[in-house]
Amino acid sequence: MNLLGLHHITAMAGDPVANVAFYTRVLGLRLIKRTVNFDDPSTYHLYFGDTVGTPGSALTFFYWAGQPRGRIGSDQVTATAWSVPAASLDFWTARLTAHHLPFTTEARFGDQVLRFADPDGLGLEIVATREPDPRQPWSHPDIPIAHGLRGFHSVTLTHAASARTAALLVSTMGARETTRDETTRRARYALAQGVPGTCLDLLTLPDGPRGQPGLGTVHHVAFRVADDEAELAARSEWQTAGLNVSPQMDRNYFHSIYAREPGGILFEIATDTPGFAIDEPLETLGTTLKLPARYEPHRAAIEATLPPLPA
Ligand code: ZN
Repeated sequence: MNLLGLHHITAMAGDPVANVAFYTRVLGLRLIKRTVNFDDPSTYHLYFGDTVGTPGSALTFFYWAGQPRGRIGSDQVTATAWSVPAASLDFWTARLTAHHLPFTTEARFGDQVLRFADPDGLGLEIVATREPDPRQPWSHPDIPIAHGLRGFHSVTLTHAASARTAALLVSTMGARETTRDETTRRARYALAQGVPGTCLDLLTLPDGPRGQPGLGTVHHVAFRVADDEAELAARSEWQTAGLNVSPQMDRNYFHSIYAREPGGILFEIATDTPGFAIDEPLETLGTTLKLPARYEPHRAAIEATLPPLPA
């Protein structure tokens, strides 16, 4: 399977206004797409990323106002990590402190990691990595480009037992284990070259709490392929491995297939094409509500139900 790394991560949040303020003003991401949940157009589906929404930078949210928080635990994606240079550790430590965001630090495979949560409790990390990462961050008035979030570093998947997930990653999805820490029971897999944006960690916590879906939890993680041909080849390989794979679906900005891995986490494979500029210019990404054609006749009613977002 010819995966290129991480594509996007989709999570569940409560209030879209607080969510936009956090990701754009505190973390300095760009709101790259404002659309609706295609299954419930009375709620937003918002995408954050770098300047153009490069695959490997996009974090997206569904909004379930008033629903209970989930519980972070096993059989979930338990952390979404961004990459910054090692020299940016002090900047982000100071910035999280200035925004009164509680955080912890840990050393992980030679890098320093800041661990914190978004307003709904979603597990986030900033990995200050010694690895070169040439990806360019979105510009933010308070965050010098040198310190901006480069895109994802990795995701952490937690299971009570990780063996079957590891077997799928290695035997079917072309990943390789690059390093492992027996003390913390964390193993790192490279989906492609093993550089930031292509890493996935399996954390084995036999006695940890079981995850519960809800606000502040990840809905699914998507991996990159170049195009439809690579996606359909990947689909065959997932089927051969015995996974129950969805048909290919058109998500406007990419094409997707879905399957639940043996540990219960929803995996997606998404194409790099056509990308987020398919329905608006790059310069103004995310500034107006984009609707799929079938909802355009109902635009006025849909817009009336959606709360205004921070500029
Ligand atoms: Zn997705």
